Parts: sequence; structure tokens; C-alpha cells
Amino acid sequence: MSQNLAIAADEREYPVENPVIPYLRQERIPHIWCPGCGIGTTVNCFARALTESKRDLDQVAIVSGIGCTGRVAGYLNLDSFHTTHGRAIPFATGLKLSNPKLKVVVYSGDGDLFAIGGNHFVHAARRNMDLTVICVNNFTYGMTGGQLAPTTPIGASQTTMPYGNFENPFNLPFLADACGAVYVARWTVFHVKQLTRAMHEAISKPGFTFVEVLAPCPTLYSRRNKLGDGVDQVKYYKERSVVKHGAATKEVALGFQGDIVVGKFVDRERETWLDGMNAHFEKVLGPRYRRYGE
Ligand code: SF4
Repeated sequence: MSQNLAIAADEREYPVENPVIPYLRQERIPHIWCPGCGIGTTVNCFARALTESKRDLDQVAIVSGIGCTGRVAGYLNLDSFHTTHGRAIPFATGLKLSNPKLKVVVYSGDGDLFAIGGNHFVHAARRNMDLTVICVNNFTYGMTGGQLAPTTPIGASQTTMPYGNFENPFNLPFLADACGAVYVARWTVFHVKQLTRAMHEAISKPGFTFVEVLAPCPTLYSRRNKLGDGVDQVKYYKERSVVKHGAATKEVALGFQGDIVVGKFVDRERETWLDGMNAHFEKVLGPRYRRYGE
């Protein structure tokens, strides 16, 4: 599947292998994201995480909801599903239960996953459904015009909250942890190596795993809040991030342009929903029961 790129230099050609290319649907490029948007960087990290995982790509499916991040599924060269707004997790749950051997990854934005889709996130984590959820958090609804999101920090301005937000936002790692996720990490698009590793760990671990990625939306969130362009935001991530592996998730809430606690916060073992169901019916039905999905 791989293909070589050739770069002309000094009248010679040096073949350069780009490890991400096999994971992208070349016919869909160029993508729709704005210059300086952080979503593309997360896709690069995810493709590298897939490379490192050495997974059979026929056994990986990706499910997105609606929004700028929801377009990720359309660009990845996997079995991809672009679902309705907020419904990526229930769709992914059905996919996983119909074919338990699949690795199913939900890849979507903060608005899609935690506003209209919030209820689904809570229950999938509670059940320890065997899914990986990657949330690109840019604190806003990008595609629809920069409205207030459930993650917008207090004080930040949005088109629907022009005098600054006064609502308490979600602390996503705390929410995931409290609901029972077995792996919870947060990084930014500045931390490409750590993010790649976290994505790799998340897709390698059975159960409900969650990675939050902070990414700039220069077109709407940054411009409205006078935060500069995408590069300025990445500089801010670099300067204000504090790595605290194992930090208590209730302590990692984000303020408006404050310090950012990043790291791997949760890594624990719990019975997955499917293992729990099989154990339950074995107990109730005895040898008549044939374990599902094995
Ligand atoms: Fe990225 Fe924001 Fe543009 Fe959407 S609107 S593509 S999130 S920069």
C-alpha cells in the first residue's frame, strides 16, 4: 500500500518514505481544514500510532460524528463511518458488538462528543465498552460558526456568548475517569510524540479508553479571543503545559489560557462489557451458553 515520494535536490532524486501516506485516502486530499488548524496534526499522530501498533488495518474501524473533527473518518484509509451528530459512540458500540474482533475508534470533537453525544459517552464508559474515544478539544463548535461548547473555558468569548462564558465547562479527564474509563490521557498538538504514544496505548488496551487532545481553532476560537494564529496557540501549549502523570483528574480542569496539565492520568483494569456479559450468562445458563465474540 505504501508509496514513495520523490524530492529533487542537487539534480538527484531521494526517495522518501512517508509513513502516514498509506493511512490517508489520497483522492480526498486536500482536506477542508483551515490553515493552522490542529486537527491534521492529530491525524498524523493517529496514523503513526496505527503504524506502531502493527494492527491489521482490515480489523480497524473509525467512527466520527459531525463537525470539523468529524471529517477525520473521511480522510483515513480505514473502514470509516461518518455518523449523525452526537451518535458516533452508539454507532461504534453496535459495530463492536456485531464484530467483536474489530478495533473500533471514535474520533470526534468536543461539541459532538460531550454536548449532543454526552449521554452516550457517559454510558459507554460506565459499561466499559471496548472502544477508544479520541476527542479533539478546541473549546468550540468550529464547523457551525464558533458557538459555546461544553468545554469552553469560563471567560472565553463565543458567538453565542459574546461577553464571555459564565457556564462551568466539563473537565473531560475527570468525567471519563468518574464514569469508569480504564485509560485517560490528555496531550496537546505540541506533544506529538507523547500524543502518538497515548493513542497507541489507548488502541492497544481493552476496554473504554479516552484521549483528549487540545488543538487550536485559529479561525473561530483563537481569532474571537485574540489569541493569535495556530502557531501562537502551539507556543502557548508548549509554554504552559505541565506534565503530571497520574494526576488526580479532578485537579486537571482547564481555565482560559491558564496552565495545562497533561499526561496519562488513568491506566487501570476492569472487566469489559462483553466479558461481563459472557461471565454473567455462563453463570446463569451454565454449559448451554456459548461465549459470544471468541
Ligand atoms: Fe479547524 Fe476551526 Fe477551521 Fe474547523 S473552523 S477547520 S476547527 S480552524
